[in-house]
Formats: sequence, C-alpha cells, structure tokens
Amino acid sequence: MKDGVNRQILLVEKPTGKLAPQHFKMTESAIPEPRDGEALLRVRYISLDAANRAWMHGATYRAAVEANTVMAGGGIAEVVSSRAPGLAPGDLVFGDTGWQDYAAVPARHLTKLPKVEPMTHLLSVYGIAGLTAYFGLLDVGKAKAGETVVVSAAAGSVGSIVGQIAGIKGCRVVGIAGGKDKCGWLTSELGFDAAVDYKDGAVFKALKAAAPDGVDVYFDNVGGDILEACLAQMNNHGRIACCGAISQYDGVPSAAGPRGVPGLIVVKRLTMQGFIVMDYMERRNEALRDLQSWVGSGKLKVQEDVIEGLQNTPQALIGLLAGENRGKRMVKV
Ligand code: NDP
Repeated sequence: MKDGVNRQILLVEKPTGKLAPQHFKMTESAIPEPRDGEALLRVRYISLDAANRAWMHGATYRAAVEANTVMAGGGIAEVVSSRAPGLAPGDLVFGDTGWQDYAAVPARHLTKLPKVEPMTHLLSVYGIAGLTAYFGLLDVGKAKAGETVVVSAAAGSVGSIVGQIAGIKGCRVVGIAGGKDKCGWLTSELGFDAAVDYKDGAVFKALKAAAPDGVDVYFDNVGGDILEACLAQMNNHGRIACCGAISQYDGVPSAAGPRGVPGLIVVKRLTMQGFIVMDYMERRNEALRDLQSWVGSGKLKVQEDVIEGLQNTPQALIGLLAGENRGKRMVKV
C-alpha cells in the first residue's frame, strides 16, 4: 500500500464465458474525501463470495456490477475519518467496500462490528457465511434431530458451517464436495457422517448409499444436476433450502436441470424455498449467540482461507469458483 494512493481493481469487461484475469485491471487513484453522511474506510479484509460472479450476469438482490467500475464486494474496514454520526475513527465496519484500499461509503450502508479476535471470524462464522448457514438450515430447512441433511458445496464457506450445525442439532449429515481430499476432510475433521465426491460422477448412486433413509433437508448451494439428484431422493415432507446455484454462475447460464420438479414436489409434499440472508438481519443476535457458544466450546470448527494482497483478489475469486478453497476465502489487503 503506497501513501496517499488508493489501489483499485476494476472489472474492465463482463465475462461471457469463464471468469479470467484479463477481465480485471489494477489502477491507482486518489484517496476519496468522504461527503456528509459518509465515512472514509481503510479496507482490511475483502470477502470472496461465489455471488461476486453472479452479480456480473445482471441485477439480482443487488444491482449488477458494470464494466469499468471498481469490482464490488463485501469487506471489513476500519474508519479513517467520518462525516456521519455514530461512526468514529478506529471503528470497525462491514459493508460493500469494493476491491480497493480505501472507500468512502454512506454510513447507512455500513454495519458496525464488535472487536473480535481473530478479526477474520467477522467475515466467516460471525459474518454472512455463518448467518446464511444458520438461518438457511434451521429457519428455512427446519432441520430436526434424527433427520438426514444433505448439503452441497459442503467444504466451502457456507456449506462447512451448515454441515456442522446439522451435526450439533443431532442430524445425520451428508456433504457433497469436489474431490477425495475435501470429502475426507469433511468426515475426518468436521464430523460429517458421509461425503459424496460429485467429481467422481454417479452422484445419484453415491448419494443413495450415503443417505439410505432418504433426504429430509437438502441445503442447495449449487443448483443444476446435483439439485436434480437430491430432489429425487427427498423424503415425504422434505425441505429444500435454496441458497445459491454456483454451478450456473461461471459461464453462460445453461439449460441444466433440475427436471421433473413439479411432479416430485406434489407427490412428496416438498417445500422448496429460496432465501436471502439479509432478510434475517434483525434476528442476527439470535444466531450469533449460538454460533459463539458452539465455536467457544469447540463444537464448531472455523475454517478460513486467507490470501495475502489486494493484487491477488481476481485470482482468488477465479480459484474459488474452481473449488480451490476450503472454508471461507478472503483477501487480506
Ligand atoms: P464457497 O466458499 O462455498 O465456495 C464455492 C465452492 O463451490 C467451491 O469451493 C467449489 O467446491 C464449489 N463449486 C464450484 N463450482 C461448482 C459446481 N459447478 N458444482 C458444484 N460445486 C461447485 O462459496 P460461498 O460460500 O460464497 O457460496 C456458497 C453458496 O452460497 C453460493 O451458491 C452462494 O451464492 C450462496 N450464498 C447465498 C446467500 C444467500 O443469502 N442466499 C448468502 C451467501 C452465499 P468443490 O471443490 O466442492 O467443487
């Protein structure tokens, strides 16, 4: 980081196929001056999220990311100076800081954070990932003791927490992840009962062996063919918590499955519900109380994957989409 300079990573071109380094460019500009109601932030950690790629396709629950703008992204930042009541230098906040060293952001778009050690937990287990896992599994999925829970992208940031909470709640837990190493890690380190390597092919058959009594809750992070394989193995009155569709993000959206959805939903009386974690922010403290207690007692292991250096942020996202990460990936600026 150079004195007086704000390094920024721009999305210079919207990808039509797979995301690649040439879609980004690093530039330098002056550190912005905060306006009334804004705080000047120094970014400490940038959150890498599968959704960063989805934002490039068009408007979702937020506006699309446009070409030749600073790449959007959540981050933890320290207030440098403030023209907003309630924020003072040294405060820690979460917000859409973008991929840059400094950002001037309206205070109404920022969440003040407590001081937690290590600070990175504010992006992982006590951040969007932990809250998404908690409310998606317990409120949307309504997982109960004795039920079988299946989660995809299970070794990722949201999935690794979903599986562990399900275990804490007394469910049988099956994770779906790419590769033998990740699957072995889920069962040996995170306490999953079984894991299915989707890159090995034959997901349907492997899932049937891993969940012989059928699936009561499927926490879907990926959509596509894996969702189709899970749908067919749902038990009556099962719940599918639709969290994301990462298999459809990186490239041209395909005509992939699931097929046969309406019939299955009727016959098996399934509930399939999408959700966005922001809708649960008023109940944030409820989740944080449980998450803190589980982390404190060692029941919930926090896995983080911290990449050093703002300049490495594009490659960090490309790698996340390719499955490089275990747990929550972030960049230390
Ligand atoms: P993760 O940390 O879970 O990383 C993504 C993982 O997805 C990769 O490591 C990779 O692991 C797996 N993956 C990539 N491509 C595929 C594919 N084609 N099929 C199956 N798995 C694939 O990312 P996030 O935690 O950021 O996101 C997880 C999901 O949660 C995303 O769908 C995201 O959009 C969603 N989300 C939703 C929120 C909400 O409010 N609804 C909030 C936050 C996240 P592997 O090696 O196993 O392939």
